[in-house]
Amino acid sequence: PQAATAVALAWFDGELVPADGLQAGLTTHAMHYGSGVFEGIRAYATDDGGAAVFRLPEHLERMRRGAEAFGLPFDPAQATGAVLATLRANGHRDAYIRPLAWFGEGGFGLDVEGHVPHMMVATTATQVHLNGTRARLGVSSWRRNPSDSLPPLKLCGAYVNSILAKREAKARGFDEALFTDRGGLVVECTGANVFMVKDGRVTAVAHDDALDGITRDTLLRLSGAQARPVPLAELLEADEVFACGTAAEVAPVAQIEDRRYGDNPVTRELAELYGRVVRGREHAWRHWLTEV
Ligand code: PMP
Repeated sequence: PQAATAVALAWFDGELVPADGLQAGLTTHAMHYGSGVFEGIRAYATDDGGAAVFRLPEHLERMRRGAEAFGLPFDPAQATGAVLATLRANGHRDAYIRPLAWFGEGGFGLDVEGHVPHMMVATTATQVHLNGTRARLGVSSWRRNPSDSLPPLKLCGAYVNSILAKREAKARGFDEALFTDRGGLVVECTGANVFMVKDGRVTAVAHDDALDGITRDTLLRLSGAQARPVPLAELLEADEVFACGTAAEVAPVAQIEDRRYGDNPVTRELAELYGRVVRGREHAWRHWLTEV
């Protein structure tokens, strides 16, 4: 591992290089048209003094599907090596990992053919913020990208939709936006999936327009919860609501519009279990960890 003062290194097209020296050209296709795909992955310090990446193959498989949608070359084995090499080079244990593949230089045409594909991995040290702030959600006036217009994958351009909703929620005094569809069904937040708890029963919100979250899948397996479509009216009647995602982990919701939620014991218990699983303290789920 490098000394803490060392310039952070990023993996870029096959090499580890100082991150602050990297630049993209002005005709970068992804910058003009959003033709890139990314992932948000985390590594956690383990009790043996090492670190492990949580569900790395699942994240890279989702990225592969996103790359395929654009015809971007993507090799999960190479990406695995890049993620581990970047973490090791930076000496990061508790870390957020951001791989990005995109079409670069090649002019202003929409066709991706002739544009240069690139790939990078950046890692940043994370503060552990399990059971962090209780989020206040505003219901977005924007609809989530419908899945028959954009596949619910981590395509760069798709996140303009999240940015619009997040800005609106913040301007209205909330922390985060909750997307609902025209029929009043809950979709997801801007970067997290949604669950509710009613009479001790845990339910995951299911919706075709929502990202198939890996944290959501993890919590479904850990809790044996059911997944089904949930109307907003039912979410407002729930005892507890939480959002979940790689970055958010298990985040209790304090408020949706003017509905305030009280104590959240089931959410807290799940958040604690999730915290043990990602750190390798639950032997039954150790196969989800890739040692750094
Ligand atoms: N929905 C959206 C729109 C997201 O960007 C994310 C973050 N990747 C999630 C849900 C949660 O997904 P995951 O648990 O795989 O991080």
